[in-house]
Amino acid sequence: MMCKTVLALVLLVVGAVQAAAQPAPAWSADIKDVRHVAGLLPGAKPLRINVLKFAESRRTKNFSIKGAPKDPSIQARTAFQVVYRDGTIMIDSGMDLQVHKFFGRGVEEPYFPDQAKEVERAVRAARMIVMTHEHGDHVAGVIRTPQFAELAGKTILTRTQIHTLMTEPQMPEIKLTAEQAQRFIVIDYDKYYPIAPGMALIKSPGHTPGSQMVYIALESGKEYVLAGDVAWHMDGVRTVTGKDAPWIVEDEPAIQGELTFLNGLMRNEKNVTVVLSHDEEQRLDYIKQKALGDHFE
Ligand SMILES: [Zn+2]
Repeated sequence: MMCKTVLALVLLVVGAVQAAAQPAPAWSADIKDVRHVAGLLPGAKPLRINVLKFAESRRTKNFSIKGAPKDPSIQARTAFQVVYRDGTIMIDSGMDLQVHKFFGRGVEEPYFPDQAKEVERAVRAARMIVMTHEHGDHVAGVIRTPQFAELAGKTILTRTQIHTLMTEPQMPEIKLTAEQAQRFIVIDYDKYYPIAPGMALIKSPGHTPGSQMVYIALESGKEYVLAGDVAWHMDGVRTVTGKDAPWIVEDEPAIQGELTFLNGLMRNEKNVTVVLSHDEEQRLDYIKQKALGDHFE
């Protein structure tokens, strides 16, 4: 009897040591599971995805990819429009000039009022709005607008995004009051969430607590992962290297897991296009290849 107890204890300890030697990755995802979740909601899949750049930041490459040379680099500030036969869904919502100025930190950076107006128009026309994460350049378009009530009523935020915006917003301009927070559609999920036909959210905290990627399968069979700010430049995905930007705090092990996932998609899933929010070179390439449309409908 005693012997059995000791043996059981030894096995337990060995098990614990093995578990400690192989810690679970800080973040992981399986594209097969994502595809499955994206297929749960019945209905016709989207036809195409459009991107619009409404502002730019000028930041040398070393901020986007740790260890990269200080080469000049343009960070596009963008929003995306997913086009279905019977309506559109916006991924992110743009920002007004005042929030744009916050990002310049005293340096004047390009802001394109005509394109910003187009984002505003597309956000108002959209059936639904989802956010990659709760930073000003992505969410201000639904918060700092006279149409707040109308837009919040069709904007889906995660519980975590709401929490950040109420308690620790990136800037005071986007802070939500309790009364404002109640107007949004709030969801909570662990890994993946089917948000629309062909579309799934992938929870990916790291850049902000409420960050998520958006998987989209088009009717044509083409697939996309809109990765938001997991990386600012595709070189970060190619080399699985995080950012080096002192003004943001990231969960680095989680970001490593997310970069590893995106890198795996790039190498092994030829049908999947990884799209970042801020990589200007990539934006121009994808428009040229017709992987993304260059205007909102
Ligand atoms: Zn951003």
